[in-house]
Amino acid sequence: MTDYTAPVTDLHFLLTQVIRADTLWSSLGLHDADVDTTNAILDEAAKLCEQVIAPLNREADEQGCSLVEGQVTTPEGFKEAYEAYCEGGWGALGGDPEFDGMGMPKTLVACIEEMLQGSSMAFGLAPMLTAGACLALNAHGSQALKARYLPKMYSGEWSGAMDLTEPHAGTDLGLIRTKAEPMEGGAYAITGTKIFITWGDHDMAENIVHLVLAKLPDAPDNAKGISMFLVPKFLPNDDDTLGERNAVTCSAIEKKMGIKASATCVMNFDGAKGWLVGEANKGLAAMFTMMNYERLTVGIQAVGAAEASYQRASAYANDRIQGRALTGAAEPNQTADPIIVHPDVRRMLMHMRAFNEASRAFYLYVASHLDIAKYTTDDNLRTQSEGRIALLTPVAKAFMSDMALSATIAGQQVFGGHGFIREWGQEQYVRDVRITQIYEGTNGIQALDLLGRKVIANNGQWLKDYCHEILLFVSGALSIELKVYAAQLAEQTEIALALADELITRSQKNPDVIGDSANDFLHMIGLVSYGYLWLKMAQESHQLLETTHQDQFSADFLNAKQHCCRYFFNRELPRINHLVYCIKAQTDDLMAMPASLF
Ligand SMILES: Cc1cc2nc3c(=O)[nH]c(=O)nc-3n(C[C@H](O)[C@H](O)[C@H](O)COP(=O)(O)OP(=O)(O)OC[C@H]3O[C@@H](n4cnc5c(N)ncnc54)[C@H](O)[C@@H]3O)c2cc1C
Repeated sequence: MTDYTAPVTDLHFLLTQVIRADTLWSSLGLHDADVDTTNAILDEAAKLCEQVIAPLNREADEQGCSLVEGQVTTPEGFKEAYEAYCEGGWGALGGDPEFDGMGMPKTLVACIEEMLQGSSMAFGLAPMLTAGACLALNAHGSQALKARYLPKMYSGEWSGAMDLTEPHAGTDLGLIRTKAEPMEGGAYAITGTKIFITWGDHDMAENIVHLVLAKLPDAPDNAKGISMFLVPKFLPNDDDTLGERNAVTCSAIEKKMGIKASATCVMNFDGAKGWLVGEANKGLAAMFTMMNYERLTVGIQAVGAAEASYQRASAYANDRIQGRALTGAAEPNQTADPIIVHPDVRRMLMHMRAFNEASRAFYLYVASHLDIAKYTTDDNLRTQSEGRIALLTPVAKAFMSDMALSATIAGQQVFGGHGFIREWGQEQYVRDVRITQIYEGTNGIQALDLLGRKVIANNGQWLKDYCHEILLFVSGALSIELKVYAAQLAEQTEIALALADELITRSQKNPDVIGDSANDFLHMIGLVSYGYLWLKMAQESHQLLETTHQDQFSADFLNAKQHCCRYFFNRELPRINHLVYCIKAQTDDLMAMPASLF
């Protein structure tokens, strides 16, 4: 069975041909990033992921983590892999240069994130949470906190954790009960219990930096009374060596369906010493810096695993022999044909590939706007990019994870019964990816965020701007075949805009319309976005095929893009028609039946 291969060629294609990273980076003054440097970085990251992390994924899932006397032990090999990750300086790649980060663009960092997650979601969660915590600390922390913590976190010596959830407070964080009492010297004593804290404790890093949501004594007892605190496992001394143990302990690790090699911890804070990050009572907004980062990365995580599942499924389909092609024996000298001859097997593989590659293009598209918003000096451009990020972050989290689950199930199905057997590894991707629909705000909440806050609340303006970009692109110069798809996409984009207007009106009379339509609406925007990106990928690959110099990308690679684009437009984009029916249906279908009848 093939092992994980980092999708370096596809990433390179997207960066150079679709995102036009060189032009983007130089226009933003990011002169340390260029395509040659990037290629070297991608190759090095691929080596780490393929050779060090991916080989641990299967066995680590069997072993899981253990908790002995309050200390979490990670599966065999994780500590060494984490050391290799730190030695390579990978945690610093996107970090702020003022605190020893490398300041590389998100469009590059996102590629490495996919590789990490594709090699092991459970392992990848540790760097992912650290990076998110660094972002929030850098955006909202005092200079003293940043100077003390960020260099150690970028180097990976100290890792990050995000402590929001409590037994009675998940989606509705206004309900949290964790308290923060002021102490002498400006610190706070944090008391409460947090559950489901990913990598809340482990043995890979020497210290763990928790960003904890808690309420001050006089704070309103709702979402407007939440503050964010930094609580380290070990209190650092003035010379940055580790001092005494803080009163934060892991009392249990959850047994769970997937990502078993990551520790999901119950964390007890018993008057633990912490420091306020950002303003009092503005903690939820500050935490959103971390959560928005994690939301995109959860989508990337899902794509990583779906890509790994595809690689195994396509190899298996070429290898496994069962039955004969409907059109006659394809391999007459063998006792049966490889299952790749069967249209139904190809349907599953094409489904996986069409969504995986579009998801990759989509996260890079969102990442390009993160780079613009962060580095541009042009206010209009920044405002446009901020709108695009706000609109598309919930789509990236929810649509990418929904489609990744669908892809990993297809990847399991290609294996038949062997897909259900643990030894083959395909079932692990299904189990692992399932969490991406749940954490960081369930996909239902992402859909509400998209339709309620990002579309209806601003009268559809961000959506109009985005759709305008798509319509402009489809009206441009495209090959004859692509013009047909462009017309199809233009029609679906106009439908999405009209439906948004209709929902804005209907929701004024009945707010349940938002919750009723949100999931279908999010999927519609996801499909339109993927159509847009497939057209771009097909156009670029078509142009490269027409040129005589295809030294960067093989004709096979470019032709496959053409095939996948056709498949997407003929078989997947029309799913929008079904979504439109659902969105136009009556809210009564869901709400009329009394709760007691459920
Ligand atoms: C493996 C794992 C790792 C995790 N890691 C972390 C972590 O590191 N840090 C952390 O703080 N948390 C973490 N979580 C918690 C996770 O983010 C929450 O489980 C998730 O946000 C949902 O909260 P809940 O489980 O309390 O579900 P609930 O909030 O009880 O929701 C139950 C259902 O009701 C729906 N629902 C709730 N409210 C609404 C509404 N207003 N409108 C419509 N539908 C609604 C939800 O979509 C969901 O389907 C993790 C969870 C797991 C399982």
